[in-house]
Amino acid sequence: MPISAPALDLLLLPTWLVPVEPAGVVLKDHGLGIREGRIVFIGPRAQALKLKAQEVRELPGMLMSPGLVNAHGHAAMTLFRGLADDLPLMTWLENHIWPAEGKWVDEAFVRDGTDLAIAEQLKGGITCFSDMYFFPKVACERVHNSGIRAQIAMPILDFPIPGASDADEALRQAIALFGELKHHPRITIALGPHAPYTVGDESLEKVRVIAEELDAAIQMHVHETAFEVHQALEQNQERPLARLARLGLLGPRFQAVHMTQVSDDDLALLVESNSSVIHCPESNLKLASGFCPVERLWLAGVNVAVGTDGAASNNDLDLLGETRTAALLAKAVAGSATALDAHRALRMATLNGARALGLDTHIGSLEVGKAADLVAFDLSGLAQQPVYDPVSQLIYATGRDCVTHVWVAGKALLEDRRLTRLDEQQLCATAVAWGERIGGHHQPNQGA
Ligand SMILES: [Zn+2]
Repeated sequence: MPISAPALDLLLLPTWLVPVEPAGVVLKDHGLGIREGRIVFIGPRAQALKLKAQEVRELPGMLMSPGLVNAHGHAAMTLFRGLADDLPLMTWLENHIWPAEGKWVDEAFVRDGTDLAIAEQLKGGITCFSDMYFFPKVACERVHNSGIRAQIAMPILDFPIPGASDADEALRQAIALFGELKHHPRITIALGPHAPYTVGDESLEKVRVIAEELDAAIQMHVHETAFEVHQALEQNQERPLARLARLGLLGPRFQAVHMTQVSDDDLALLVESNSSVIHCPESNLKLASGFCPVERLWLAGVNVAVGTDGAASNNDLDLLGETRTAALLAKAVAGSATALDAHRALRMATLNGARALGLDTHIGSLEVGKAADLVAFDLSGLAQQPVYDPVSQLIYATGRDCVTHVWVAGKALLEDRRLTRLDEQQLCATAVAWGERIGGHHQPNQGA
């Protein structure tokens, strides 16, 4: 950048800069310059200090990376955190979560639950998340107000859900929301057919047509458990992923969440269609759903991103912790200590997430021209010493409490661990009040 260029809005000077692209690179003593929400400069510290900047921020002992991308979740379910634990998926869903949703979920629930989720995610270094939950228009308002970035997927099921009486009504709402927000700088609208066992062929055909017309992404829970695959084989002699391929749903805009069951044919379908897989290891572990073969998918060329899933099945929205779990689990599943190394794990939590959500030209790595979605992790504490490879330290030895600063599109949303736009005390008080109302009515042992 020529010295005569207009001044930077902000110059950041961390000890380590990890751009993620190019892969495996750690830049020591480099600066990153931001103007009008975009990255306009990355270069050595000495060169950076010659630039004019409105504000210069030294970040000693800190690692700066692209903001984390939480590629799958159900934000407002933070208000059901810990409501029903230690149960298998179908018992958990049918006897606990679905009845509780029928009773409690309205626009106020989604407003308060989404705010809580956004605050928790920002504090954990997440700058972009995907959401699939009821009253998505309310979630869009919360995303808009908070400054975070999100993909909001309209949930589509063949039975009535809070806010929509059937799949057709949900699709109409999705089209309207898409039209309303298509120029929003931080929100993308996607279609969220819930799962192969809750959406029939007729509705899925409509999802395909509408997704093509709008050029919208499709996010869906697929092959979450072995039971799901066995049941489909018993009833229709067809694996769910093969059915989705036959219906024309797979493709670069398709995001298959979970995929704990992957046959050779499934793998071929994912590769041929260039679909993304979103791995949710802690939800899969907690519900004993199975293990996604991350290394096998990765080596075959499938784009694998990572998500926390909802707080009712995790029970946190800690993507850094999730990535550590993913890195460790991948080695156990592959039977190889070289599987999903620390640098690839960070890539999975940033650029791969951006690619899954169709945002990789815009976010996911630190490159000139991309949006300034950034996170700073403090690696100066006792538990990180000594630092040989800061990325290894980040993935294997650092918790989300080390997140100190978060910027989305160049705006500081977390400064010295404090949220700049959301009132943490107020959010806690609101969540406690919901907990008292919901907890007073819930029978924890029902159906267990
Ligand atoms: Zn989910």
